[in-house]
Amino acid sequence: MKKFLGIFSGIATMLTLLASLSQGHGPLDNGDAKFLSYTLAQTIAITPKSPNNSTTQTKPKVADQVKSVNIPANPDARVTVLGYHDFSSTKDATEMLISTGKFRRQMQAIKDLGLNVISLEDFTAWKRGEKTIEDRSVLITIDDGWKSIYTDAFPILKEMGFPFTIFLYTNYINGGSNALTTSMIKEMQKHGCSIGSHSVSHPYPAAVKSERAKGEATFKSYLQKEMGQSRKTLQKQFGSNISCYAYPGGFVTGEMLPIASEQGYECLFTVLPGKTTRSTSNFTIPRYIILGTHDYIFRNATSFKATKTSAATVGAIVQTTPHPVIPEPGSIISTRLPSISVDLSKVENIDADSIIMRVAGFGKVPVQYDPARKIAQWKVSRRLRSRACEVSVQWRSLGNTEYDKAMTWIFLVNREAAYQLK
Ligand SMILES: [Zn+2]
Repeated sequence: MKKFLGIFSGIATMLTLLASLSQGHGPLDNGDAKFLSYTLAQTIAITPKSPNNSTTQTKPKVADQVKSVNIPANPDARVTVLGYHDFSSTKDATEMLISTGKFRRQMQAIKDLGLNVISLEDFTAWKRGEKTIEDRSVLITIDDGWKSIYTDAFPILKEMGFPFTIFLYTNYINGGSNALTTSMIKEMQKHGCSIGSHSVSHPYPAAVKSERAKGEATFKSYLQKEMGQSRKTLQKQFGSNISCYAYPGGFVTGEMLPIASEQGYECLFTVLPGKTTRSTSNFTIPRYIILGTHDYIFRNATSFKATKTSAATVGAIVQTTPHPVIPEPGSIISTRLPSISVDLSKVENIDADSIIMRVAGFGKVPVQYDPARKIAQWKVSRRLRSRACEVSVQWRSLGNTEYDKAMTWIFLVNREAAYQLK
């Protein structure tokens, strides 16, 4: 287990960045987007030390391969690439682990929003200009190869009829009780599962940097092994053309790009969010990594700005709270003066005086607790002005000095809801 915690720590920095942007600030605005693209530029700007390095002078071939065979009928098409990791219906959610129930609701939300889920093959064909896709499309990807892909996510994806892609690092296939097995993968392949490479050993940035420090030739053969050998192994084991790669931890260096071309990759995926268009570089295709504990990211991922040919789509907030709340997470209400309440009947030994409710735009509010019904409630005292309202509630158990983790959720106010009372 420790081994895998180590693997994940590599992405922690970038994910923490994403989380801090998404937490409590609403959807990423232009400023955030600029910051993220700056960060991405910084990541890619790591170039080899020697300017005379012949490897770096090799122009990436992948971009050249994106030749327009047919101009797609929908030049405005945009794709949201979602990135998941692990799933569980019993363990507590973490950034890397989403509750299976929430995942189901997210998949349902994609359906309800009318977004079009495409396969990896559709995606690459569209990038090559060989296939038309619908304007607002979604590519579902899952990294690393946890067994829960098979036990938890796959039944839901199959039921919804959604194609999906797993990015596997070959060392982890059949790698123990928490890992996917060859036969699970083969079964999923029969039901809409495509395979991409996620390296051989899933090195995180520190490991990559230390290989890089050993010199150009060593680093090149290291990358050839991680990127090339994984592709060959997967092709041999699963009999399909492996044309896509997800950078472990989203870590990209300049040396990786020519090697990706040389090793036969067509599209390579990062962990920085954004929409993909035909003109997006195939070397750094953005992905929204859906963290199990931050619900804004899914909303951003499923939001699409209006184009000349289609209206804007407001993304879905899919949340679950450990205790029932009103208004429900992600629900759209039609009054600007709602009562906000939490059912705390399942909390043992609650210290009634300790309950704190915070509401966006109001700060700490004078919440009332009804000990008979065990409900904490506050009626909004001034019309809500924004579309999304975030609430957080915290409490202590009797005799405890520490507060439990805050329970946070968001509900939405219908734009048509009157500001004036009728
Ligand atoms: Zn990974």
